Amino acid sequence: MGFHPYICGKEFTISSRGTHILASPIEYLKGVGPQRAELLQKELGIFTFKDLLEHYPYRHIDKTKVSLIREIGPQTDFIQIAGRITSMGIMGEKRSKRLVAEIKDASGVVELTWFQGITWIEKMLFVGQSYQVFGKVSFFQGLPQLTHPEIEPLAEENATARNFLEPVYSTTEKLKARGLGGRQIAKLTQALFLHLREKDLPENLPDYVLQQLQLMPRYRAITNIHFPPSMEAWTQAMNRLKFEEFFIAQLRMNLVKSRRHRYSKGVIFGQVGDIFNTFYEKYLPFELTGAQKRVIKEIRKDTGSGRQMNRLLQGDVGSGKTIVALLIMLLAADNGYQSCLMAPTEILARQHFAGLTKLLKDLPVTIRILTGTTKAKERREILKQLEDGTIQLLVGTHAVIEDTVQFKNLGMAIVDEQHRFGVAQRAKLWGKATIPPHVLVMTATPIPRTLAMTAYGDLDYSVMDELPPNRKPILTVHRYETARSQVMGFIKAEIALGRQAYIVFPLIEESEKLDYENLMKGYENVKAYFPEPKYWMSMVHGRQPTDVRETNMQRFKDNDTQILVATTVIEVGVDVPNASVMVIENAEKFGLSQLHQLRGRVGRGAEKSFCILLTSTKLNNDARERLKTMCETTDGFKVAEKDLELRGPGDIEGTRQSGALNFKLANILQDRQWLEAAREVAEKIADNDPDLSAPENARLLEYLQSLKGKTAWSKIS
Ligand code: ADP
Ligand code: MG
Repeated sequence: MGFHPYICGKEFTISSRGTHILASPIEYLKGVGPQRAELLQKELGIFTFKDLLEHYPYRHIDKTKVSLIREIGPQTDFIQIAGRITSMGIMGEKRSKRLVAEIKDASGVVELTWFQGITWIEKMLFVGQSYQVFGKVSFFQGLPQLTHPEIEPLAEENATARNFLEPVYSTTEKLKARGLGGRQIAKLTQALFLHLREKDLPENLPDYVLQQLQLMPRYRAITNIHFPPSMEAWTQAMNRLKFEEFFIAQLRMNLVKSRRHRYSKGVIFGQVGDIFNTFYEKYLPFELTGAQKRVIKEIRKDTGSGRQMNRLLQGDVGSGKTIVALLIMLLAADNGYQSCLMAPTEILARQHFAGLTKLLKDLPVTIRILTGTTKAKERREILKQLEDGTIQLLVGTHAVIEDTVQFKNLGMAIVDEQHRFGVAQRAKLWGKATIPPHVLVMTATPIPRTLAMTAYGDLDYSVMDELPPNRKPILTVHRYETARSQVMGFIKAEIALGRQAYIVFPLIEESEKLDYENLMKGYENVKAYFPEPKYWMSMVHGRQPTDVRETNMQRFKDNDTQILVATTVIEVGVDVPNASVMVIENAEKFGLSQLHQLRGRVGRGAEKSFCILLTSTKLNNDARERLKTMCETTDGFKVAEKDLELRGPGDIEGTRQSGALNFKLANILQDRQWLEAAREVAEKIADNDPDLSAPENARLLEYLQSLKGKTAWSKIS
């Protein structure tokens, strides 16, 4: 395969002053200098040679071929032609003023048109002269034309000068104004390649991986991604680099996991004892679903293994995670260990506590609750009993448990409704304990599998993809505000049957005051339909003091009020089985996962439930898609897939900070087969050679070490 014309030529190396050439400041590249360097930094984040190298072209223009004008057809996109200008003149007035030239080759004639820079271009071009022209074909009144084409005089000796794929780079208006348009960036990249040798971009994948997946070697791939000799070579280069991105990310996470499995000690829950068995046989209020049983088995296996468990449990809203948490905590108690269950809000913590206390009332298990509102005296007592081991199960809010609490022997920490439970948070938890407790993080925001394994590849991972039986499906409908009185009428009918309803208003974080006003207006509006004393309403929102919010929530739970008007504070976990209607106001303003979470507040009892999405009549396409998805499916994983498709991975809740999804070339949605391949290879290597000490993995070790310091890698080795 021949070299690309851009990069063959004289080679020279600049002194790298002991550092890697790719770390050189961009300023030192020929043709840049301090002023342009500053602009490149500001506008495109290009600080070093490496940054420029990774400023990949977003497409290539095929100039490998000179076509005949006759070949231009309705399907033609870009085309390169060569011919003689036969006439030229300025036409039209004001905004439609344009320069039109006719160019002719042996096969036909086509018009070239310019709207800007007319005077200058007219001076440059000459009737009777031959030119090589490249541009996008458009049709005006049925006739093809090339608008603002690239044009160069055609001399005999350079007739074949442009027979290659030209990279197109993104740039900005400011850069263009300083002579750094897309073509100039191509020139800089070309100049950069003159400085680079193969040894500067050494292979980082083992030979057996390259062979197995038929991947292009690294140096060639990086060259070809910019200056490919053919589109086919470019595709191969892309594949190689996409794989590399996925693979390196996957390998790092799998190594973390594998090393933890191998080297971290964990407390051992060796036996299932009386507490667990008695509860299971006598007090478990229902048969567990298959998914619940499977997850409990997975956790039992982990906690009996002698290594520390670090597990993410994903289960759709209502899949029954709480009972799994309880059984696991009973397992810990049977083995003489304390456990804690942490919830993100006071409401949720209280709900868990109430539910668990009821389930445990005939068992010899001591359970207490600790939150921000626990009174000082009670708090002191609880802290003491945690230290002396009297309390076996502690329920509380995240912050409270993390901050102050010392356990005698915490063996199991369960975090409800959170995606990530960071190293720092864990450290706070186990305090001075020599062996860290097992950690189970439970989340009801379904994340597509592909995304989960990318973002959470360092965690053990369980899914509960089954709802308890006898659930009536939730019927979801979309209604315009114009149908408000019918919707309110429907709520009345449900209340007449003894049910309750939620009405939720959006929070738009920019303006708390506006949100508040909007909510109050909404409340008054709803109230007009539901006059006291026939109906009672309560309201919860983020501006209320905790105790007021608690009381209002409790009144709804106790069915003292039939309608709960709320902001999204009720989003996670709240469980009122008698509520059968969820009305979401301004539903177009919510994201899919939020809508799904809110919908999950109903359909928890035996009654058929309804979710009504109220919107204005003005909807953009994305909003329509979201509403349609909600009406079509109640499967959280399907909703999540759609969410990923609509928003892209960067925005998925809980993954934003992880950085695990910031790929330059690879796309989690479109390149799934490479993601799968990368995961498979990475898992195998992490399992078989967690220290990368095998000779065939030497390149990986060296490469990961070269990334050290910039990355989480440094934390684990
Ligand atoms: P989530 O996974 O959303 O936290 P919960 O643990 O709150 O779900 O459970 C939702 C409801 O389903 C609760 O009322 C719970 O008692 C009930 N439930 C849980 N598991 C089962 C089961 N196997 N069979 C019947 N009902 C169940
Ligand atoms: Mg829950």
